[in-house]
Amino acid sequence: MDEKWQAGPSMAMINPEIIEASGERRDFDGCLSFPDLYGETTRPHHLRITGLDEDGKPFDRAYEGFNAVIIHHEIDHLDGVLFIDRIENLQDLYTLSENEHGETVRVSVTL
Ligand SMILES: [Zn+2]
Repeated sequence: MDEKWQAGPSMAMINPEIIEASGERRDFDGCLSFPDLYGETTRPHHLRITGLDEDGKPFDRAYEGFNAVIIHHEIDHLDGVLFIDRIENLQDLYTLSENEHGETVRVSVTL
């Protein structure tokens, strides 16, 4: 997997709140709720989040790049928003397949 898609360590966030969001760009998105379905969504690549950690202590942290994308995706879940709700065009949804050369390629999904 592309290094920019590597997630940071997992951590608990209680009542996370986005207090800064910037650097919106289209990027890869996917979700365990939709196995083998991926898409391109527009999300901030810089986030500043406040909330409580797993010990109940307040935190105020900044996240960049794909970590910001993942956290934005997860906070969306708390608000009842799924990545498919952020798809701007159905042609942006795809699954992955292997072509005759053994390369992983995107295959458009028609709904
Ligand atoms: Zn998800």
